[in-house]
Amino acid sequence: MADCIFCKIAKGEIPAEKVYEDEQIIAFNDINPVAPTHVLIIPKEHIPTLDALADDKIELVSRMVQAARKIARERGVHESGYRTLINCNKDAGQEVFHLHLHVIGGRKLGPMA
Ligand code: 5GP
Ligand code: ZN
Repeated sequence: MADCIFCKIAKGEIPAEKVYEDEQIIAFNDINPVAPTHVLIIPKEHIPTLDALADDKIELVSRMVQAARKIARERGVHESGYRTLINCNKDAGQEVFHLHLHVIGGRKLGPMA
C-alpha cells in the first residue's frame, strides 16, 4: 500500500533496524521502544489489522510468533520473560494499520490494561 510506513520499511524504502527477515515476514526495532527489547514483526504483505487477516492466511501469525521466540532467545530474554502483543483497531490503540506483533522484554513489565 503506497502510503503505509510499514510497507515502505518492508520494501527498504525507509530505513529500519532490521533484526529478522524471511520470504513472508520482517522484524525490526520499534522506533520508540518501551523496553530494552521492543521489536515489531510484520508480514511483507499489506494486511491492515489482525481482524482483516483472511482465515486461510492464519499461519502467518504462527510464523510471526515463531520469529518472536527466535528473537527473544537471541536477545536473551526468553527465560526472564517477554510479552507478545497485537493491537487491533481503535480501542486497542492501534496506530499503524499494517498488522504487527510487538515483542517487548528486558525489564519487568506492568500488568495489562
Ligand atoms: P501500534 O500502536 O499500532 O500497535 O504500534 C505501532 C508501533 O509502531 C509503535 O510502537 C511505534 O513506536 C512504532 N512505529 C511507528 N512508526 C515507526 C517507524 O517509522 N519505524 C519504526 N521502527 N517503528 C515505528
Ligand atoms: Zn502496509
